[in-house]
Amino acid sequence: MIPMVDLKTQYLDLKSEIDSAVLGVLGATQFILGPNVKLLESEIGEHLGVPHALSCGSGTDALHLAMRAADIGPGDEVITTAFTFIATAEAIAYVGATPVFVDIDPVTFNIDPGGLVAAITPRTKAVVVVHLFGLPCPLDVVESVCIDNNLVLIEDCAQSFGARHNGRMTGTVGLLGCFSFFPSKNLGGCGDGGMVTTPDADLAQKILSLRNHGSHVRYYHDSIGYNSRLDEIQAAILRVKLKHLERFNRERQRVARAYNKALHGLAIQVPFEQPNSSHVFHQYTILCEDRSKIIDSLTKAEIASAIYYPVPLHRQKALGESFRSLSLPHTEWVTERCLSLPIFPEMSQSQVDRVAEVISAAIR
Ligand SMILES: *Cc1c(COP(=O)(O)O)cnc(C)c1O
Repeated sequence: MIPMVDLKTQYLDLKSEIDSAVLGVLGATQFILGPNVKLLESEIGEHLGVPHALSCGSGTDALHLAMRAADIGPGDEVITTAFTFIATAEAIAYVGATPVFVDIDPVTFNIDPGGLVAAITPRTKAVVVVHLFGLPCPLDVVESVCIDNNLVLIEDCAQSFGARHNGRMTGTVGLLGCFSFFPSKNLGGCGDGGMVTTPDADLAQKILSLRNHGSHVRYYHDSIGYNSRLDEIQAAILRVKLKHLERFNRERQRVARAYNKALHGLAIQVPFEQPNSSHVFHQYTILCEDRSKIIDSLTKAEIASAIYYPVPLHRQKALGESFRSLSLPHTEWVTERCLSLPIFPEMSQSQVDRVAEVISAAIR
């Protein structure tokens, strides 16, 4: 059995460190906004090289808080892509703004800068880019488009913790960066969690207030906020895992290179990489014509695989009828051919070889 991610092996590798971190919190009994939350925020701020890093309840909340802090609301258009997890668009909908979906580059799976420029209208207020599967989007180009058009740039970094583009970490280029600590993410906790990063001190203060019932001083509320705090136990666990994150990402890159080599010569497209960008391989996603055949063979061989994402956001029932006539050819084309293979830092060469062997037999 080869799973998509092997959280058990990772826990057992770090068991003594994680167990003592958790027991430390249980002993200290400061469960909400305790010292580990503060320390994690400063450690991540330093790790990424960003002045403010504020934790919250989930990656979805991070996106929602970012929208609120940037004063995005009804009447505003927010440009993003449809080949992503629903949370990217949910956050736009939560604040009453209008999502505007543009097509992706079918090779990188990230936003197509030409489509972005063409979608800008006088109502456009912000752009949410997703660094999908761990590959940074063309941040330099997107950043200058946003500056030229006075748009707020928000980065959805849920899948890209530690990825760099031209030397800059994802989450440090936009006005706001949003991270998820969902257990399977590159930096994953043992439950839900998220973080917002920003270079702007005023926005940081707004996020701090919004995540804690719109309050800076207890029982004095300046705005309607939320209960969206990172749990102290999660913060303690994440501090342990942060120390190992660069190694985890290097191991993911090792697995990806091993896949590239083992799948070489087969009629499939392996993930795109660029010399000036580091891909942190949250997913290793291939494009193939024989997808159902490959999935069947993998399933028979007890190897997991997953389709991220089977339905693009402009075809999701939740987003209503408004996108019925919208066509995003590259997004739709990729949706029909994408297949994500098992990848995790602890994956062995023989596991990679086994997956490749089954795929190769399925195609031939
Ligand atoms: C996981 C994910 C989110 C949401 O994060 P949660 O912590 O699960 O709320 C948002 N965007 C993308 C692209 C994701 O992969």
